[in-house]
Amino acid sequence: MVNALPLSDYRPRTKLEVRRTQVERPRFPVVDAHNHVYFNGQWSSPEPDALLRVMDEAGVRVLACVDAAGPDDPLSVVRDTVRRFKGPHPDRFIVLARPDWRLLSGSSASLARRFADCVAEGAQGLKLWKDLGLTLRDGTGNLVRVNDPRLDPLMSKAGELGLPVMVHAADPVAFFDPLDATNERYEELLAHPDWHFHGSQFPPFRRIIEDLRDLVRRHPKTIFIGAHVGGYAEKLDYVGGMLRECPNYYVDMSGRVAELGRQPYTARRFFLEFADRILFGLDSFPPTADAYRVVYRFLETEDEYFDYTPDGLEPQGRWKVYGLDLPDEVLAKVYYENAGRVFPGANVAG
Ligand SMILES: [Zn+2]
Repeated sequence: MVNALPLSDYRPRTKLEVRRTQVERPRFPVVDAHNHVYFNGQWSSPEPDALLRVMDEAGVRVLACVDAAGPDDPLSVVRDTVRRFKGPHPDRFIVLARPDWRLLSGSSASLARRFADCVAEGAQGLKLWKDLGLTLRDGTGNLVRVNDPRLDPLMSKAGELGLPVMVHAADPVAFFDPLDATNERYEELLAHPDWHFHGSQFPPFRRIIEDLRDLVRRHPKTIFIGAHVGGYAEKLDYVGGMLRECPNYYVDMSGRVAELGRQPYTARRFFLEFADRILFGLDSFPPTADAYRVVYRFLETEDEYFDYTPDGLEPQGRWKVYGLDLPDEVLAKVYYENAGRVFPGANVAG
């Protein structure tokens, strides 16, 4: 072979001619249970009015503003998010707070107390980010595991308050593998070397996921939402086992259309069996109407072999996705009914 193209220049265009459905609006009102208006120290979404225009255009009734990570005091992030978004539009936004890890070395009740302060300021849930279990270390330099007993009072507090705990545990399985010619996320990891968690300084993927399972089991009175299909969209069998075992466990589907859509038969069975336990989420920010429409097309149509991003890029891997053609009663649950149960006070039907 002469003059082989570099992999990065290879952009094949499919010659397949199959039905292409344009889904402008979702069949039911949508609650985006996982998105970010503020990320890592800065506002990541437009001003509330511009964001509301996108939401209205895309049929998104409510958006959960999830605080994930950053250098700032989580309580002040809650205050600012409520002031900018939820305060002026209380029926359109939900706010989730992150733990104040600076309090980890204090008394075990202090994390729970600070979360209660966040709730008093308007937070409607807690978000644990992937730093927990992966990179977060305590004062003695030890990795803090997802099921660390020092978090127990915080988990119990969320349960007492009737508020959910969203947990983003681990990351795609391939991020934990060597970066070589067999890695299915090779190009993505080249672009984001900081997402590569292979090596002795990181715990193995499976241990983080098992720790999540232990956490959810240990707190049956607390509602947990496993972000990104419970962190294991590559193995829905595992996630399904956990959903069967733990009635207090839900998952959001954010950021995983690429994974779900390349296994349409398995994913469809998963959505049908766990229709009561899956929350819609986008986790792309700032959100666009077209980004939402890709997900609607995936959930609602039986279109085949299409792009999982609106711009046709394949950042997560070189494959296409297939629609699930879900029935109306499942769509209604995933789009908004389940979120209405999980987030108390969220006006989703209105
Ligand atoms: Zn997120």
